[in-house]
Amino acid sequence: MEYITGITASGGSWTPAFVVRSNINDCGCCGKCFKSCGRGVFEYIEHPNSDDLCGAKVMTVAHPENCIGCSACARGCPKKNIECEPKAR
Ligand code: SF4
Ligand code: SF4
Repeated sequence: MEYITGITASGGSWTPAFVVRSNINDCGCCGKCFKSCGRGVFEYIEHPNSDDLCGAKVMTVAHPENCIGCSACARGCPKKNIECEPKAR
């Protein structure tokens, strides 16, 4: 399978890994992914079971179409809660 590739500043090739999902049930709501992403991909939402959780908020992948595949969000998540994958051309 051929994946989408990018070019580094020196002209080298690399394979981006784009965000595909975060698991809201494991999210610790620390906000690190939100802060590390410069592309506006993440948004806080009410947890679907917020009645049971006193109105807890969690992070969700709201705009995956804006992702450039840097994987900073996945590397920084203390809960290992975000999955990123290469994308086929
Ligand atoms: S991989 Fe990079 S651009 Fe994509 S959501 Fe994560 S931090 Fe944002
Ligand atoms: S970095 Fe991980 S634990 Fe923190 S808000 Fe994002 S998904 Fe949740």
